[in-house]
Amino acid sequence: MGQVEEGLALAHFMRLRVLSLSISLLLASISGCIGDGDGGFFGSDEESELFGIPGGLTLACLQSSKFTNMMIEIDYTAGYEPQSQTLSTLKSRIESVCDKPGGVTLKTTQTDFGHGDSWSANDIREIGRDTRETQPQDGSTLRWHLLFPNGSYESNGVLGVAVDASTAAIFLDDVRDAEGLFGRPSAEDIETAVTVHEVGHLLGLVNLVYTSPAAHEDSEHPGHSNNEDSVMYWAIESGDISSFVNNEVPDDFDSDDRADLAAIAAGDLEVNEQLWS
Ligand SMILES: [Zn+2]
Repeated sequence: MGQVEEGLALAHFMRLRVLSLSISLLLASISGCIGDGDGGFFGSDEESELFGIPGGLTLACLQSSKFTNMMIEIDYTAGYEPQSQTLSTLKSRIESVCDKPGGVTLKTTQTDFGHGDSWSANDIREIGRDTRETQPQDGSTLRWHLLFPNGSYESNGVLGVAVDASTAAIFLDDVRDAEGLFGRPSAEDIETAVTVHEVGHLLGLVNLVYTSPAAHEDSEHPGHSNNEDSVMYWAIESGDISSFVNNEVPDDFDSDDRADLAAIAAGDLEVNEQLWS
């Protein structure tokens, strides 16, 4: 049931596709990798900040006209600190697509989220807002917020989820459970892939805030790549990650992903739902 609910939630902000996909959403294995979000206002104590949808701050990352620096705030429950491999790979992937002359900085902080073991998209949004240091658009610094909490997403088999324009969560309990036979792929490799994947959603991949000229979005998994060599491949998000061919999971964007981001950055591809202009 949770999978169907997530499928419908996904369709909520992909209204254009609801009609054509309504049947497949009910039948396909939708994991809920992209959380429900209406792009609306959340809370009244943050100056009615618009949280947006995943992809809503991609231009802010891809271009440097307003934001010259980037800070990735990573808050984790004790025992859930991401591996150094994840951090270095994530930094490298962001630097490879975003224009940040002042640099991309990652800051990890042990955090008590004060929350139980089941997380909804709204939980992540609201607790993310409560625990982050400051707002996403902070002067000339763009700030994205990753949570590594204890517990799991409310839908089974979800290793990570992007919930608004600047916030995502990675569920390491489930990442560790997804480790393959004999450690191939390893929990560390899966953690790295899922983290880059969720940040890929914050970048708007695939087709979240634009329409790619290339046919690389998986027809049965909206917002995801149909290329198993892309980190945006739909199965990255699922507990079936250990079924990858050769037990290797990609942790990088493919040429179609990169072409989309380059075209958006250059102004050659129309991009929607941006929180600034
Ligand atoms: Zn995904």
